[in-house]
Amino acid sequence: MLEAKLQNFVEKELSCRCCGKLIINHETLICLQAFRYFLNRKYGRNIMITPSCGTRCYQHNIDVGGAKGSFHLTGQAFDITSPDITYRQIYEAALESKLFSTVIRYDKSLFVHVDTRKRKNYAIESWVENK
Ligand SMILES: [Zn+2]
Repeated sequence: MLEAKLQNFVEKELSCRCCGKLIINHETLICLQAFRYFLNRKYGRNIMITPSCGTRCYQHNIDVGGAKGSFHLTGQAFDITSPDITYRQIYEAALESKLFSTVIRYDKSLFVHVDTRKRKNYAIESWVENK
C-alpha cells in the first residue's frame, strides 16, 4: 500500500487528550500537513502549528462540551494554534489555502478549528465564534 509519512506531526499530538485514541482520516491528515507546507511558503520561513485537539473519543467530546456528532470524533477535525503566527493569521491562511471545508475562528479561546467534512460542490464555510 502506498503510504506517506507526515513530516511535521507525531501521533501523540493528534490523539485524544484523555485516552490516546487516534482515528486516522487520510484526507484530513494530508490537508493538515499540506497546510503546514502552505504556511512555510506563504511566510518564507518555518511556521509551526500545534494541534491542541485532534481525535476525541466519545467521552472526551462530552467532557469538553463538543458538539454532538463533532468531526473530532471521526478524525476529520483539528483545533490549531501556532507559536509563530497569530490565530487570526491561521484563520486567514486556512481560508486562503482552500485545504479545509470548514474554518472556525474562536475569538475568546484564541484558536482555529479546521475540518474536512464533505460539502456540496466542495464548498468552504467559515465563521467566527465569540467563545
Ligand atoms: Zn479519550
